[in-house]
Amino acid sequence: MLGWKSVKKIDGHIHLVPDEIHKAQPGFKDAYSKAKLETYLEIMERYNIEKAVIMPFNDPIYLAMQFKVREVHENLLKFKKEYPDRFYIFADIDPFNTASDSLKYVEEAIEKYGFDGLKLHPTNSGFPIDSDYNRPLLEYAQNRGICVCVHSYPDANDDLCSVSKIRRVLKRYPKLKMMVSHMGYLEFEELLHLNCYVDMSAVLPDYAKTFGLKKTNEILRSFKIDRLVFASNWPFSRIISSEEVYDDYMKILDYCNFNDEEIHKIAYQNIKNFLEGK
Ligand SMILES: [Zn+2]
Repeated sequence: MLGWKSVKKIDGHIHLVPDEIHKAQPGFKDAYSKAKLETYLEIMERYNIEKAVIMPFNDPIYLAMQFKVREVHENLLKFKKEYPDRFYIFADIDPFNTASDSLKYVEEAIEKYGFDGLKLHPTNSGFPIDSDYNRPLLEYAQNRGICVCVHSYPDANDDLCSVSKIRRVLKRYPKLKMMVSHMGYLEFEELLHLNCYVDMSAVLPDYAKTFGLKKTNEILRSFKIDRLVFASNWPFSRIISSEEVYDDYMKILDYCNFNDEEIHKIAYQNIKNFLEGK
């Protein structure tokens, strides 16, 4: 059995901040200051990460000098243009725009610039996934078969990003291609029977710390193997440093002792199926 470090992987959820923003914002602290392309390319080599999905924040401040969503898209596109075989990119929304403007910019990103999906982050945008604001976006995504990734790392069950709201959306849009980031955290059980992918970004070290490795393994295995996606949320974590993220993921996933076929699905094939429409 191959260890997780050496197996070929796609990371389904990472963050990169453009170099010019690092230069212009020397005050960026903590993990934001670590989100550099150069650092990540080295990590990709070291951990055999063939590709990664770069997610925006639904808050243009971190990805655009002028805080405009079109500039966010331009900046994300630069990553993909420079390294077309290494990065997928998801479109962003700016919650200060009207819903119809958001739709316009998302359509432009996807149709004109070949973005790979749409990221919705209820906690950052202030719009719950089932809010009216998101309706045109979700309708568009369902009709066009566009991938939607939704942040769900709730602290309480009335949280903006709680799973109950995702459930409502999947009922309303049964053909929507959705991936739930951070597995709904403590609400993971409510995701088990929903028709969506789940990615383990950010939450895996949190599970291991809260529940221990044995229970973490049980949580992962409670999901259908072909719905589970390897993802880290690098360089961000609630509980460990950026430098520890991948080693921690590798350690936890090695403990889980998935067989080679399962590892290939979780590490590589499932996210490929999601992004490429299978
Ligand atoms: Zn993230």
